[in-house]
Amino acid sequence: MSNATAAKKMKLAVLTSGGDSAGMNAVVRAVVKTAIIKGCETWIVREGYEGLVRGNDAGHHRSHNIGAEKGANGSRSRTPTPEAVETESFTQTLRYGDGDLLRDGTGDHPSGRSLKGRYIVRVGWDDVRGWFSEGGTLIGTARSMAFRTREGRLTATHNMIKEGIDALVVCGGDGSLTGADVFRAEWPGLVSELLSTGKITQEQARNHAHLKIVGLVGSIDNDMSMTDLTIGAPTALHRICESIDNINSTAYSHSRAFVLEVMGRHCGWLALMAGVSSGADFIFIPESPPDADHWADEMCNMIQSHRDIGKRKTIVIVAEGAIDSKLQPIHADHVKDILSERLGLDTRVTTLGHTQRGGRPCATDRTLPTLQGVEAVEALLESTPDTPSYMIGVRENKITRVPLMEAVKLTREVAQAISERDFEKAMSLRDPEFRETLDGFYATSMLESEPKLHHHLRMRVGIMHVGAPAGGMNAATRAAVRYCLRQGHKPFAINNGFVGLLDDNVFQLSWLGVDNWMTRGGSELGTNRKLPDIDLGAVAAKFQQYNFHAFIMIGGFEAFSSLQILEQGRKFYPAFNIPMAHLPATISNNVPLTEFSLGSDTSLNALVDACDAIKQSASASRNRVFVVETQGGKCGYIATMGALACGACIVYTPERGIDLDMLRNDVKFLKRRNEVSSDVYTTDVITKMFKEEGGSLFDSRSAALGHTLQGGIPSPMDRARAVRLSLKCMSFLEQHHELLLKQQSRSKQAPPESAAIITIQGSSVQWVGVQDMVEHADMKNRRGKQAWWQKYTELVEALVARPQLLAKG
Ligand code: ATP
Repeated sequence: MSNATAAKKMKLAVLTSGGDSAGMNAVVRAVVKTAIIKGCETWIVREGYEGLVRGNDAGHHRSHNIGAEKGANGSRSRTPTPEAVETESFTQTLRYGDGDLLRDGTGDHPSGRSLKGRYIVRVGWDDVRGWFSEGGTLIGTARSMAFRTREGRLTATHNMIKEGIDALVVCGGDGSLTGADVFRAEWPGLVSELLSTGKITQEQARNHAHLKIVGLVGSIDNDMSMTDLTIGAPTALHRICESIDNINSTAYSHSRAFVLEVMGRHCGWLALMAGVSSGADFIFIPESPPDADHWADEMCNMIQSHRDIGKRKTIVIVAEGAIDSKLQPIHADHVKDILSERLGLDTRVTTLGHTQRGGRPCATDRTLPTLQGVEAVEALLESTPDTPSYMIGVRENKITRVPLMEAVKLTREVAQAISERDFEKAMSLRDPEFRETLDGFYATSMLESEPKLHHHLRMRVGIMHVGAPAGGMNAATRAAVRYCLRQGHKPFAINNGFVGLLDDNVFQLSWLGVDNWMTRGGSELGTNRKLPDIDLGAVAAKFQQYNFHAFIMIGGFEAFSSLQILEQGRKFYPAFNIPMAHLPATISNNVPLTEFSLGSDTSLNALVDACDAIKQSASASRNRVFVVETQGGKCGYIATMGALACGACIVYTPERGIDLDMLRNDVKFLKRRNEVSSDVYTTDVITKMFKEEGGSLFDSRSAALGHTLQGGIPSPMDRARAVRLSLKCMSFLEQHHELLLKQQSRSKQAPPESAAIITIQGSSVQWVGVQDMVEHADMKNRRGKQAWWQKYTELVEALVARPQLLAKG
């Protein structure tokens, strides 16, 4: 059956279940909008499975009376989209601004419409507008005892059939997804029973022979197997890191220790990621429990070693489900007592509790649920009685479908492995990044009394920031420095790029000196855009003078270009015959082949913050179009992903360009454009055109976000990524240094692959030699020849109905 045929028949409901998480609203929005685009009819179910069981009271059935509803919105009414008009006969019950009726806990409404006694509610396009920036779930969630019983599920089946619903999207944790699978398996039996008891007709039974169901994982713990990220986990990590960043200053001021308890019963992802991205001193996670007899000594020794070199603050993070190797729980209060009694530290406990769940979703919790919501609808449209129920996940930066129960089974195996003290297995069931992040935490937090490497393997490592500042540059440098000192290398900071090198602006960095760099935005080393060809011979002389054995550049396209110049310079200058690495860090995310550069996540979050504020102003002043200009050079990454994360109407990118026809067509929409999408149609010109063309319909304003997009404090994702990639860079340098040492000749010849860029491709990290990278680069426009995110431009516009509107003229 084709998508279109299936779509005509599909009547789809979406519910959120279990503990709430940021991003659930984005799921509902994406599911509803995509389903409408595909020609389906859409419902939301309030209060999770409980709403399915309660259904709609008789007498509270949906209104089809469009005429009576029109104008009821008063000043808040909008011109509905064509899709809204088409579905309006079903949707009016909820239409009151952007989901205000749902936000109103009473369910009462000035127009007399009410949600009281109504749990399965027909919704349309406009009902889910503006849901992006809301935390939690606007349609409510609950834990339903009734749904756990067959009787409850029988009632739920009846309620769904009464509405005509035959497909269900469930967003929740492993319990909710198990419930979904049980429901689907039982469905035919439940339908037969309803038929035999005369509750439904033959025709209804025939039309609802099978239930299509799909699950999305809404859980702040990131505890589901077969997906790299669960919806809400990135936002929870943001909340935790914000709290730690705030605690840091008071801890430093009073020279205190803080023990923080974070969520995670069977999964230490939040504790681990928070530990690594906040530069904590010690962490406790369930998957890797410390030795029951020695953990207190180990922790005290580690923290004392930090205090001995002058560290004034101590942060220990304890996952809610932390245990020792004998499965004894480790509680924050106990850790506090040990630190107070044994080390005499003034120690406080902070339990972050439900603050971790709340608040505005971060950029990832807007883009990922949107992409997953779209995929959920696709999966339902393609579903047959023979296909399994799918869980929509994300792996290696790609949206995936996996059999739902397989994922639930694997997830439970982790808890099982922990309970059986098979911690190796528990770790192996997490993705490889989890293990690497844990190793990264130890590498950057442990002070070794003796360097790990033998004398002849130790290096003098030059570290430089090149190009514009980006969030995570300092975190990467901190990790590199700490790793160097642990191994016995000497890390040299080259301040102010190649200009600074020529000016001898070079200093050795210390373990404590970089302690606070995790949370610092900008570039502590100072940076500029000058390339080494300002005077390549002089640069080589400085490499020789400082006797660098290895060199790492953290930066964007300029760093890549610099690496190319240095590699080619090896023919003439022996000093460049050393291993050299480039770690991409740029908010433009324009370094070829790598899917993410450091700083791009921070920048997206800065954009989301700014756009939320702008939208508030836009909706307060009614009918105002905002044209938002982003940075990004000739790369439209920030504009496109930012538009997806903010729910913008149109995105202009340099890759796609702008022409007059486009502008004419777009004149009725809110705009987001990239700074160099066109030399002619600048932000100012577009804004003025919209102002002129808008006449009395709408006004137009512009906002050029400029350097604010470099962000303040780097996002937790950028910090954690910085540590992981920086440590990989250091071991790359070590490996190639060792290979060079093995060369017999006096004049060492570094092979081309020893000058390389570290790239993220999927979930794996790949090294690309600088000359190979050139083949993938559009050097003129300073971006990759291909970009994974470009396909989302159309999605951005589809989700605001632009293509449909344009098609209808
Ligand atoms: P969280 O991760 O926040 O705990 P969760 O989805 O795992 O989320 P649960 O309380 O386990 O939360 O499940 C949510 C709801 O899903 C339950 O209240 C129940 O209605 C339903 N559910 C869970 N397990 C089953 C099951 N085996 N059969 C039927 N329904 C179930």
